[in-house]
Amino acid sequence: MSMSDNSLRLVWVYPDLLSTYGDQGNALVVERRAHQRGLQVERYDVRSDQPVPTSGDIYLIGGGEDRPQRLASERLRRDGGLQRAVGNGAIVFSVCAGYQILGNEFINDLGQREPGLGLLDVVSTRGEGERCVGDVLGDIDPQLGLPELTGFENHQGITHVGPGARPFARVRLGKGNGTGDGTEGAYNGTVFGTYMHGPVLARNPLIADLLLKLALDVNALPPTDDRWYDALRGERIAAAQQQPA
Ligand code: GLN
Repeated sequence: MSMSDNSLRLVWVYPDLLSTYGDQGNALVVERRAHQRGLQVERYDVRSDQPVPTSGDIYLIGGGEDRPQRLASERLRRDGGLQRAVGNGAIVFSVCAGYQILGNEFINDLGQREPGLGLLDVVSTRGEGERCVGDVLGDIDPQLGLPELTGFENHQGITHVGPGARPFARVRLGKGNGTGDGTEGAYNGTVFGTYMHGPVLARNPLIADLLLKLALDVNALPPTDDRWYDALRGERIAAAQQQPA
């Protein structure tokens, strides 16, 4: 997707419904890392009573509790803007409830099957066991060329990845998709979903860079000083290793 006037259009979808555990930090990290590469960023925070613009470059969606998640899914389905944006080649990075909404279906707060947006070939159900809560460590799909994944999860839903998507990562610690197969998240082309909070892009800034590279259609970006990110990563990775399995 081409950017207008050296300016990246970043859309933060439904902060009024979907933004748990500081997921809005993902928008700050994308913005900051774009600025560090000399890009201008036009950021749109789109509330759930506003239409989702269709000409964004990168869309970010956060996690949410069960009821706001149903409302968000209903409104996004009705609005259709996000689906059109993906049809135009937009990049979408979604977390937890946002990830479930991008899929084909999830179980809503009323215990009913709720259609998602069908942008990722995944189906979410409610896990029968304990909630998946805690720090996570994993290896991101080697095709994406990213270092180890660190994040924090807190979800009851479990997600099955269908043949039309690839798992985003494999967990070494934690539950990820919660299906017991060790997968975490899913992606297909430019559409990504993960259970990781943290905010995940603060803990894994090279994922933010991947989104920027996809938006710019380049293979590499100028390097940045990542000492603060590395310190945070180091701390969280050590904490995860100490947590009981
Ligand atoms: N309500 C969803 C679940 O529990 C998502 C939770 C979240 O976004 N943290 O599976």
